[in-house]
Amino acid sequence: MTDSNGSSNGSSAKTPEWTPDSWRSKPIKQAPDYPNKAAVTKSVAELKRLPPIVHPREIVRLKEHLRDVARGEAFLLQGGDCAELFDYCEQSVIESKIKLLLQMSLVLIWGADKRIVRIGRMAGQYAKPRSSPMETVDGKQVPSFRGDILNGYQLDERELDPQRLVKAYHHSAATLNYIRASIASGIADLHRPLDWGLGHVRDPALKAKYSEAVKFLTDMLRFMHTIGAAQNDKLDTVDLFTSHEGLLLEYEESLTRLLDDPLSHTVPAPGQPRPTPRKEYYDTSAHFLWIGDRTRQIDHAHVEFFRGIANPIGVKVGPSTPTSDLLALLRTLNPSREEGKITLITRYGADRVGDLLPQHIRAVEDSEYKRCVVWQCDPMHGNTKSTATGIKTRHFKDIFEELRQTLRIHKEQGSYLGGVHLELTGDAVTECLGGSEGLDEDDLSTNYTSFCDPRLNEKQALELAFLVADHYRC
Ligand code: PEP
Ligand code: MN
Repeated sequence: MTDSNGSSNGSSAKTPEWTPDSWRSKPIKQAPDYPNKAAVTKSVAELKRLPPIVHPREIVRLKEHLRDVARGEAFLLQGGDCAELFDYCEQSVIESKIKLLLQMSLVLIWGADKRIVRIGRMAGQYAKPRSSPMETVDGKQVPSFRGDILNGYQLDERELDPQRLVKAYHHSAATLNYIRASIASGIADLHRPLDWGLGHVRDPALKAKYSEAVKFLTDMLRFMHTIGAAQNDKLDTVDLFTSHEGLLLEYEESLTRLLDDPLSHTVPAPGQPRPTPRKEYYDTSAHFLWIGDRTRQIDHAHVEFFRGIANPIGVKVGPSTPTSDLLALLRTLNPSREEGKITLITRYGADRVGDLLPQHIRAVEDSEYKRCVVWQCDPMHGNTKSTATGIKTRHFKDIFEELRQTLRIHKEQGSYLGGVHLELTGDAVTECLGGSEGLDEDDLSTNYTSFCDPRLNEKQALELAFLVADHYRC
């Protein structure tokens, strides 16, 4: 195999020939048609010169965690905004999301009795697929908002702007820098009292259940603190990996680098020369990337790009995924059958999951990919509805219902539901209906701030974690 500069590398041959830009010869969905091509070339050249955002060693560590998830030994919690904005690159927004993911993972540890792997839809979730390139605003046709990496939400910023590619890099890097700094400085310090605020839970039975879990967790943390176990167990430092949809391939290609595989750095025997480390292509824009529901055509550009990178990758699977495509995708994206390399992110909707998931599970688990994938439930994207006045929302009960059925179906089929994929925010937004606060349609206007899909607020997200934990404990 050769890289884009024509030099050879030591990684295993991928057939047919793959290069970071081989996707360019394939048909592509959701591609931007930039008016100013020279400006794109300039931005891409700038990105290619900038250092990786994440390191291969971190990517490899996440791969090891995901292998444990595929084996049923750990559980994956992935969450964050539908569309992350450059404006979210701000201390309190980042902190509240880290804290929420941490708090949810504590609840899940209590329930599932497993190690939790955390991945944020953060530090790069800037590109959005759209059903139509144009939309009507105030009776006028305008280009749709496609995420901050492409254009702005304000109506006077809707033209595609190639300089946003470089801005996305800097906002990703600044966000990840603050995530790393916060974690290293003890934001995840579990000895500090956490605010579990259950005041909003109206149902007395639910409240009693959640209070029992919180008491257990608080006692456990206090006990560990007393005996000094937390320090020794590294519970005071946690990993939080980053992810986004790998939609804008100009950006992903620019940050894809041929780098040493950290696992191939072996110590030579005495007197022997140091062996040349194996090299792999890592997409250094994030630890984990996924292919969206609209771009997973087997012979198209996104699958072509993804088949060459060494990162762990996700594939959204929904009602429009033919069962036969699933195996074709696995064989193309993971021909060497690395355990945990592929996460199948299923998102059918509460009313369809019962019909569709069992056949998808059987296709994979009866093939050579048995126990090789991570099965993850995204109970958000199949459950989006519009209110009579046209507000995009999701009902908490549909979200939980899809998750509940997914858990049940995996149990029946003998497979392992290894994770959840959620759209959430640490802020008190009112975008999804229901939950213990009982948000109704009139409440949606109180604090609806998403520029794309509706997210669970902090209380709804924690409640979902409690419900999943409860499922495992029963
Ligand atoms: C998303 O995750 O925000 C998304 C667009 O999902 P999907 O590709 O499953 O529709
Ligand atoms: Mn979304």
